[in-house]
Amino acid sequence: MFADLRRITARIAEKFKRRFYGRTFNCPVCHFEIAIVDAGKNRLLVCPVCGVVIDIEEVYGHAVPVVLEVELFRPQPKARVHPLATHAPIGLYPFAVLGAALLMVASMARPFVPGLEPMLTGAPVLADATLVLLVLSVGLSVVTFASGLWDWNRRYRRRSYRQIRLKIAFSILFLLLGGAAIVLHASGAVFSAGSGLVDLGSPLSVTLAAVELALLVAGMVVIASLGHVGGTLVYGK
Ligand SMILES: [Zn+2]
Repeated sequence: MFADLRRITARIAEKFKRRFYGRTFNCPVCHFEIAIVDAGKNRLLVCPVCGVVIDIEEVYGHAVPVVLEVELFRPQPKARVHPLATHAPIGLYPFAVLGAALLMVASMARPFVPGLEPMLTGAPVLADATLVLLVLSVGLSVVTFASGLWDWNRRYRRRSYRQIRLKIAFSILFLLLGGAAIVLHASGAVFSAGSGLVDLGSPLSVTLAAVELALLVAGMVVIASLGHVGGTLVYGK
């Protein structure tokens, strides 16, 4: 099942990548996949991973990368704030999603599982803990986003890379999705303050719970993509 899921995700990601990146080639030195559209009018670009300067030759419709030289004196900051800062949102966010999902499952199982009731006394604490995790992960992702922009500005000299554009767009999207989930969760309209669970008798609560879950799952896909693309900018592949 997981293999199938992985194959489906890979196929969707590939389609999305083709549409957004256009034609690509691999850096001859580090194998990082680079979009041809990122090259300037003079067909030159610098590999963001290994720093070689590449001239893209078009030979019979094929892109042939030719390494001309290496970008020396690239800023090499000692404190790598961005790779460090990524750990806070990526580490905390999945637990927030897990907390909200557990509360929703418990709310739905409550009428059918009689023995569940004593375990539900902790639900309000779990609802609060989930909110704290959400606020921390989305709040700290601002630091991650800002440090990433700083690195692009300094280390990559604001050059155009499809991966960076994607990361900026996805970072904004993550802040919007996470922010909306926080507002919903904190409003008390999804998980009632008394029980910490979704009130199944209220159609509004059930609808808003579905919306919060959709926001959280979409945020999970976005943050996983951000982490994956960020990883390629560090390891090349
Ligand atoms: Zn390279």
